[in-house]
Amino acid sequence: MSGALSSDEADDGLGTAAAGETIARTDAHIALIGSLAVARALPQRKRRTIGAWCFLDHFGPAKVVEGDDPQLGPHPHIGLHTVTWLYDGEALHKDSLGSEQAIRPGQLNIMTAGHGIAHAEDMLWNTSSRTVHGLQLWIAQPHATRNSSSTFAHHASLPSSAHNDLDVTVLVGEVGATESPARVDSALVGADIVARGAGLVPLDASFEHGVFVVEGSAIVNGNDVATNQLLYLPPGHTSVDISSSDGAPARLMLLGGIPFGEQLFMWWNFVGRTKDEIDDAQRSWNSDDGRFGRVESRLSRIAAPTPIWH
Ligand code: MN
Repeated sequence: MSGALSSDEADDGLGTAAAGETIARTDAHIALIGSLAVARALPQRKRRTIGAWCFLDHFGPAKVVEGDDPQLGPHPHIGLHTVTWLYDGEALHKDSLGSEQAIRPGQLNIMTAGHGIAHAEDMLWNTSSRTVHGLQLWIAQPHATRNSSSTFAHHASLPSSAHNDLDVTVLVGEVGATESPARVDSALVGADIVARGAGLVPLDASFEHGVFVVEGSAIVNGNDVATNQLLYLPPGHTSVDISSSDGAPARLMLLGGIPFGEQLFMWWNFVGRTKDEIDDAQRSWNSDDGRFGRVESRLSRIAAPTPIWH
């Protein structure tokens, strides 16, 4: 559940964040999903990717009511995996492969777009908490797989491990000896962390990492990191020291990977390399030429806007 990139977030060159720099952005509002507040942590002007992770939206927590439930009608993707992770509520995924899958907190939906897929996402309002809260992430596919066929996978349970007062659940990749079964196309890691105190999480020193605070506040390698802030760690760290602060538990998402060596061009819901590729995808979707297939959904199809370079 997330909006697409708006025109001022489309790629216009790379910047760099300094080691240990906190990149913060809060309260980004995505009109596409009604009144739901979304904080977009990636991409940022100073930091476009962390490993192959190229998009991170934090939506909610928000109460939803019938008739105002956040929903995103059928829309296309190319060249990326979408990763959906919920903290509260429930969502229904439908895609052009015919997949129909409910997702609940602690479960992982990972959809591989390859040459093209379309999907719809519906946050269900009629759950006991009537709250929606989660992350929508994208992983850029490397050149070797980005034009291949699309796939969808649901992982109902994921491996976890305790590191002192930290509970770590591995979405993709591995943390120490704990390895996720989910597909990855490049070396990367994504892990949910609940901090009830302090602990040390082992890292792959060849990776760059980002630590994003979802709830509460934390001290990460000596840096104060508040809700909706992302702390960047360059390659070279063999572990990260995390503790909750303010006497309350904190919830974090650890992202990492080998710095992505390919120059991306991201626009709307497309991850490509050139404007021509984006133009082709935009035309295919709007003319419904069959490249993206059909999604059986009660929601209306979202038209691609005209690229800003036209
Ligand atoms: Mn999507």
